[in-house]
Amino acid sequence: MGIAKGSPKDQRNSYILPCECGDAITVVASDAGEQSPCRCGRDIAVPPLSRLRTLNGEGAYESSALDRIRSMLAMGSLPAGHNCAISNQPTESCIEFEVICDPLDPPAGPSPFLVMASLLLTGGRMIIWRIPERKRSQEEWDALERIRIPLLVSPKYHKRIKRRAKDQDYLRELLAIVPVYARLVREYPGARVVPVV
Ligand SMILES: [Zn+2]
Repeated sequence: MGIAKGSPKDQRNSYILPCECGDAITVVASDAGEQSPCRCGRDIAVPPLSRLRTLNGEGAYESSALDRIRSMLAMGSLPAGHNCAISNQPTESCIEFEVICDPLDPPAGPSPFLVMASLLLTGGRMIIWRIPERKRSQEEWDALERIRIPLLVSPKYHKRIKRRAKDQDYLRELLAIVPVYARLVREYPGARVVPVV
């Protein structure tokens, strides 16, 4: 990712803009209102200087996917692309997902060791089949970061997503089509994805 190099003056006058591809470009004040190319080949419209300054003040150097998504939302560059995440056909319809950014790993399934131990200890009468889920107090739960992100999905697939609203693997795969969302779910392995339908 580009980070401004050179004198403090250069740094103050350069701005980082997110691209749909998940990368970012560095622009200077004189680029305002122009197009600037990203490595991926896309041309990025550089907003007016006033907007650049606001973005810079909001933390234009983004260290996390969450920050980058927030910045992209503020810029109006999401939803990314032009095509449906399922059919890859052009669509203007989108579905919003709320992502609850839990940094912990998701609850584990049965551990082979526990299954084996319970078989041996109880002669198979009782199988400990699930490790107790991590406990979060309501306070902790409320304190987790949440973000709403839009994804392009043709209207005919909205029902499918509604039907699979609890299938976290499916929803994460779907989101991962957009590079910056892929980064988000990688950074938050325990993130809970909730379609807002
Ligand atoms: Zn790009």
